[in-house]
This record gives sequence, C-alpha cells and structure tokens, in this order.
Amino acid sequence: MRTASKLSPCGRMDVLSAQRVRTKSQQRAAELGTRFHRGMEEWIKTGNIPELRPAQVADWLAGLTTSWVPPPGVECEVAVGLSPEGRYVPVTETEPHVYVPNDPSHVLLTAGRIDLMWESDGVLLIADAKTGRTDLGDPERLPQLMALGLAAADRNKADYIALGLYLAREAQWKWSDAIAMDSEQAAGMWETVLEYARLDDSARPGPWCHSICWETACEHHPRHEDAA
Ligand code: SF4
Repeated sequence: MRTASKLSPCGRMDVLSAQRVRTKSQQRAAELGTRFHRGMEEWIKTGNIPELRPAQVADWLAGLTTSWVPPPGVECEVAVGLSPEGRYVPVTETEPHVYVPNDPSHVLLTAGRIDLMWESDGVLLIADAKTGRTDLGDPERLPQLMALGLAAADRNKADYIALGLYLAREAQWKWSDAIAMDSEQAAGMWETVLEYARLDDSARPGPWCHSICWETACEHHPRHEDAA
C-alpha cells in the first residue's frame, strides 16, 4: 500500500526515493520539519506554545501562532485511510508512515495523516503544513491532498471540501476553491488517486520526469539527457 504522501505518476519514484541515501542537510531538514509539526500539534491541542529549537523552527511556529487563530473544532494530525471503493477507513498509524485499518477486514488503497482540518461555512478545509523550500504548486493538484481530502470528505460527510497548504517558511496559506464532492473535479481527483495508488514499481516516463522527479539514478531523468 502506497501512502498518500508517496502518490505520484510514477511508481519507480517511490522505490528510488526509499533507496536514496539522504545527505546530512536533507536529514536535518526532515528533523526540523518534524519538530515544527510536533510544536504545531502541541499548540493546537493544548493552547501552549512550546519552546522550540533551533530558532528557525521557533520562528516558523511563531509565524503560525501570530497570524492564525485555530478555529473551533479544528483537528490536528488526523490519520485517515481510503478504501479501493473510495470510502473512509479508520486507521491507526502504528509507526511513522505505517497505517493499519482498525478493522482488519478493511482494505486500504492508501492512507495518510491530515495536518489540520476544520469546517467553515459548509466547507471542510483540509491542510498540509510544509516546511521545505520546494514550490509544490496548487494544493488541489497534489495527489497527497486529493487522497486525504477524499477520505476526509467521506469521514465527515462533507458536500464541499477545500485543499490547502500552510507554508511555514513564508507563514502563508494557499487554498483551492471549494470543491463540490459531486463535481467533475472531485471525480477527476478520485481517478487520479486510484491510478497512482495502483501503479506498480516500474518506471513510467512522462512530463513529470522533468517537473517533479528528483531521482537522478533513473535513466529517464533529464539529467541523463543533458549528459548525452
Ligand atoms: S525520471 Fe521519470 S521514470 Fe524515472 S523515476 Fe523519475 S518520474 Fe519515474
């Protein structure tokens, strides 16, 4: 089962990513991201702003706590699963990025964790917080948010959702328009998630090799074209 954060148009990206040895700076970036997420969760759940180190992470959290008031009923770090039929599946994250259905008879197409979720004016808002520098584009085009949004919509019986990113470095939100769950856009989201979740591990070259793939070990990566 490919987790929501690993959904992409090419199954081999996930395989190569898992094999790639992270540089120290990449490990450090991941560690800082984890600290930010833990601090955000503590603040949302307790109201206390934890002291974070280093100052960069404290600044990221301050950017959120000074610019945004958690709405009533906001949920944080919610694990959700999605079945092959597109239904919400209750799951437990037994260890980082490992999701198990609470009912062993349920089957998972994918699963993941929603950083922040709340309802406003009849729209269920689903947001992922990012601490990296990479420009991820529009939130409604991210397969991870599509999958989490579909699971959340079924869980909360929402007629409309909006998908968002919180960019910690800029202290900015990016939101999609409201998406009706009976719309063509929602149907397209489902087709994308289903297709990406079912890919095997083989290479699937396409325009994404140039736009979103970091896996230079793959012979289809544009880096090899440049060298030819
Ligand atoms: S370069 Fe293209 S084919 Fe190779 S892993 Fe990346 S996306 Fe897949």
